[in-house]
This record gives sequence, C-alpha cells and structure tokens, in this order.
Amino acid sequence: MAVIGASGRMGGEVCRAVEAADDLELVGRFDQGDDLGDLAGADVVVEFSVPDASPGNVAHCVDRGVDVVVGTTGWDDTRLESLRGTLAEHPGVGVLIAPNFAIGAILVMRFAQEAARFYESVEVIELHHPAKVDAPSGTAARTASLIGAARAEAGLGDVPDATTQDPGGARGARVDGVPVHSVRLRGLVAHQEVLFGGEGEMLTLRHDSFDRSSFMPGVLAGVRAIGDHPGLTVGLEHVLGLD
Ligand code: NAD
Repeated sequence: MAVIGASGRMGGEVCRAVEAADDLELVGRFDQGDDLGDLAGADVVVEFSVPDASPGNVAHCVDRGVDVVVGTTGWDDTRLESLRGTLAEHPGVGVLIAPNFAIGAILVMRFAQEAARFYESVEVIELHHPAKVDAPSGTAARTASLIGAARAEAGLGDVPDATTQDPGGARGARVDGVPVHSVRLRGLVAHQEVLFGGEGEMLTLRHDSFDRSSFMPGVLAGVRAIGDHPGLTVGLEHVLGLD
C-alpha cells in the first residue's frame, strides 16, 4: 500500500490505520512535490489530496497498473469521463472513488431508500463544522435524491409543504422534491438525520462522524476489495455488497 496526500489530515489517518492493520503493509508516503515514480512498488494506492491534483495522481497510478482508492472530492462528470478513458487502456486495473467512506452514512442512505415509500412526510438535516464549503453536503444531496427516486417509484410525489405560508427558501433547499436543511455550527464534525413522519409516529435515521477515524473501516474495506473490482466504481456501497 502507498498513500498519496500522506501529510494531510485524511492521508495521515490512513497511514496510521494501515500500519495498525495486520494484513497490510505501508511501503510509500507521497505528498505534493514528491516524484510518484513506480509508487514504491505498491499494489494499491489510497489517494486523499486536493481536487485539482487528484485526477493526475490517479492517472499516474492507473498507467502503472496500480489499483487506487480515492477519497478526494471534486470528481465531476468531465473528470470521471477522462478517467474512464484512461482505464479503458488498462483493463484489469480498478479505481474506487467514494465521496463518503463512513459505513454508517452509506447505511443511512440505504435505510432511507427502504423507508421512503412508507411515509408521505420526510426531511433531511445535515449538520457540519462551519469550515465546510458546500451546502447541502454531497451526502445529504445523494440521500435526498435516493429518497426522491424511491418516492417516485412508489407513486408519491414531491414532499408537500407543511404550510401554505412557506416563505421561499426559508425551510432549506429541495433536492429531487425532498427538503434538505444545512446546519453549520462550531463543535460539529459531520452528521446527518433523516426524519420520516407518519400518522402518530416518527422514524429518525441518524449518523454521526465524531472524527476522521470514522472513515477508516470504509477506506480499508475499499483497499481489500478493489482487486475484485476492475474498472471504475463510484460509491463505497458497491464494494460493501449493498448494490
Ligand atoms: P488536507 O488539506 O489535510 O490534505 C491534503 C493533502 O494533499 C496535503 O498534505 C497536501 O499537501 C496534499 N497535496 C496537495 N497537492 C498534492 C499533489 N499534487 N500531490 C499529492 N499530494 C498533494 O485535506 P484532507 O482533510 O486530508 O482532505 C483531503 C481530501 O479528502 C479533500 O478533498 C476532502 O474533501 C476529502 N475528504 C473525503 C472524505 C471521504 O469520506 N471521501 C472524508 C474527508 C475528506
């Protein structure tokens, strides 16, 4: 295993997690300005750097036949398309891009998808530290999107407004017809709640990431599984057997 972005917060955490794992060996740590070369002979690379550097780093690994587990954000459709082109030239090489490595966050999405068709009323609340740049979070948007798709399949439309006096936007954004609220507060890390309201009952799904260690079981699961997933995989759920 080698880590790119090894001096960063996530990369450092990955290095510690790999060193603590009996079945994995850390052979290389790379960061900005380092020559990636032959990637220190690693079989798998974990990449947590910055959005503008990640596509080049991942292409370097794929060109050398090395599987990659990627946590860096910013993989838009253009970047994914270009990576698919690179992978097509290297059949057998696998790249896993996971916007969220917290297994609990992935399970909330799955459970929310299951529950969606049973409740007319649903709202998503995501709560993060104030330094988070985007709102709503990618995970909340994806959760809402999955709920919206499940509702559509069940013949339920957009979630109705609770009041006819809903001043535009005051109750948060809507993603695929589902209200999503963003809270930015000191002391928070990464949290998500999905509230389903029914006749005389409420179902709450909640996940809390208290620190970066919450991502490590997912990262290591990706590292162990990537050899069986050639080509491009987007989303941890696909290597956890949840699809
Ligand atoms: P960070 O700023 O602490 O670390 C980034 C590291 O990348 C730094 O050490 C920096 O020097 C290095 N870097 C910059 N340019 C580089 C280059 N060209 N080649 C190699 N390394 C380079 O950031 P972080 O908190 O560790 O987050 C890293 C990325 O992971 C961000 O995009 C963040 O949004 C994402 N992230 C994803 C998840 C997930 O579950 N997928 C979780 C947390 C963070």
